[in-house]
Order: sequence, then structure tokens, then C-alpha cells
Amino acid sequence: MPRLLIATNNAGKVRELRALLAPLPALTLCTPAELNLALDPPETGNTYAENAAIKAQAFAQAAGLPALADDSGLEVAALGGAPGVHSARYSPQPGATDADRRQYLLAQLAALGQPQPWPGRFVSTVCLALPDGQTYFAEGECRGEITAQERGSGGFGYDPIFIVEDTGCTMAELSFDDKNRLSHRARAVQAMYETLLALKD
Ligand code: IMP
Repeated sequence: MPRLLIATNNAGKVRELRALLAPLPALTLCTPAELNLALDPPETGNTYAENAAIKAQAFAQAAGLPALADDSGLEVAALGGAPGVHSARYSPQPGATDADRRQYLLAQLAALGQPQPWPGRFVSTVCLALPDGQTYFAEGECRGEITAQERGSGGFGYDPIFIVEDTGCTMAELSFDDKNRLSHRARAVQAMYETLLALKD
């Protein structure tokens, strides 16, 4: 059976990607932790695709296996698309947590003095890299808006302040299965299914 390395150290993403790849039982999934791979490639790209490729290629090379990486972010229209590709590092505070980044984003919005709603979207680009260097890409998005009141305890990152379009729920209020039906990452991974199904031993 072909093996596929889930190329991320983010526990929230590992959990979601495992579930999103479960409909492809022909693949044997593994994680960096299971392979004792301690790798944290620098995300120096200017686009989601560049960063997804950096991560997927680094893990594929190190493991000698096909590797699937996601690079994703939250884009807020009122902030000119920020934090975008910098979502994971969007805070001037060293050692900032997800909660610190949410508060920083809300402070940036408050400083603009524009009333709600604050439309935004989550974006994901996934990259499949093969050990021989070939790469394949797919994208997904999830539209919604930012809310100043945190709600819900599921998910990770900006989920508690992002209301998913047509649901009235923040991403953190959705069940795990519902997030995996509606999310940007779900849509990107599903768009990659056919390519993943063609993987050989
Ligand atoms: P990266 O893909 O490692 O650069 O990290 C993407 C960052 O975007 C994460 O650290 C989160 O802050 C944010 N992000 C990406 N996807 C999600 C999501 O599904 N929910 C909440 N935040 C997310």
C-alpha cells in the first residue's frame, strides 16, 4: 500500500488531515512524530503555494515518501487581506500564542474604527511532493466574517473568532465533522483526492 506522510508539526492540522484522508483507505498515513522526523522547514515563501511546497518537499526528501503539506491563513478584507500568509506569525509579541494572535487581530480591526461585519476567508493550499521532486497543488477557501466575541472551543488558531458563512457558528463551535465538511482545508484536500488515488507503492 502506498504510504503518505502528513507533512506538518501542527497537532490541529494532523488531526484534521487524518480525518480528511480517511476516505482514501488505499493510503497508509504516517506523521513526522511517528517517523521520529524532527524537521521545521522555514516558511520563507511569499505565497501559500511556495510555503506548502517548502514543507512538502522538505518532508518528502527527509522521509523518502510522498508528503502532503498544507499552508493556510486567514484573510480579512478590512485589513487588506492580512494576516494572510503570515497568519501563524501575526503578532509583534515573541512567543505569542493563538489566543494572543486573535487578540492582536481584533485590536488591529478595532483601531480601524470600521463597524462590523468584517468579511474574511480562510484559504488553504495543499502541496503533494514526491521524493523525486515532483509537486502537485490544490486550493480551497471558506468564506465568513470575523466576530469580536470569541465563541466555541473546537479547532485551533483563529477558529473562535471566525463565523462560517451560512452557519451562524464560529469555526470553533462547529463539530469536528462539520468543520471537516466546510473548511478551506477540506476543500483543498478533496481537490487533491484524484492525484492521491494515483499514488503507487
Ligand atoms: P501555516 O500554514 O503553518 O503557515 O499556519 C497557518 C496559520 O493560519 C495557523 O497557525 C493558524 O493561525 C491559521 N489557520 C490556518 N488554518 C486554520 C484553521 O483551520 N483554523 C484556524 N486558524 C487557521
